[in-house]
Amino acid sequence: MNLKKSLKPIRKQLQNKNRLYHTIRRVYTHLSELSNEEILDYYNVNSLKELDEHIQHIKAILKKQIQNHEEEREELDACFCVDSRGDFKYLYEDKKEALKQIEYSMQTKGVKLTLYACPFHCGWHLSKT
Ligand SMILES: [Zn+2]
Repeated sequence: MNLKKSLKPIRKQLQNKNRLYHTIRRVYTHLSELSNEEILDYYNVNSLKELDEHIQHIKAILKKQIQNHEEEREELDACFCVDSRGDFKYLYEDKKEALKQIEYSMQTKGVKLTLYACPFHCGWHLSKT
């Protein structure tokens, strides 16, 4: 068995692995501070393979949206999450800002809010518990 030859695919896989995390941190600035594990956690996947599949899926959706709404391209950054009344939810691109809001709401109104990741992966939302 040729050892050198058999190691090649592994090395290539490792390069791709780091590239995907790198790309995610660069494209999604709100994830730039997260570790590889935290990124997997954020996307609710268990492995790099699942993460890759998920990203491919998101890319396909975004591509479709761009084709369908060429003129609305600017709004691609926004998510489409609505609250129980059908209003658009406030999006926190900065996790720290959202956490500050939780504290503020608790102190001033005594309302307990919970943080959760936007399903469209735009940032974070708060919901009442
Ligand atoms: Zn959202």
